[in-house]
Amino acid sequence: MVTCPPCRFCGNQSVLDGVDALGYLEWSTLGKEIQNALPQLDADQRELLISGTHAHCWAALFGPEEE
Ligand SMILES: [Zn+2]
Repeated sequence: MVTCPPCRFCGNQSVLDGVDALGYLEWSTLGKEIQNALPQLDADQRELLISGTHAHCWAALFGPEEE
């Protein structure tokens, strides 16, 4: 279980369950690209780990992401 940084919009911290421990270590301490270290996470979960920003907080301020 990994605690994410506080969301810059709402200030709440999220906890991600089921994060691969080795992949997390490789990303957080060895500087591996997060999408390579933790490929099982989706983009929203990776954003949570990196910045703590919730997808729904971001969408509330800036609108849905456009591809
Ligand atoms: Zn938030």
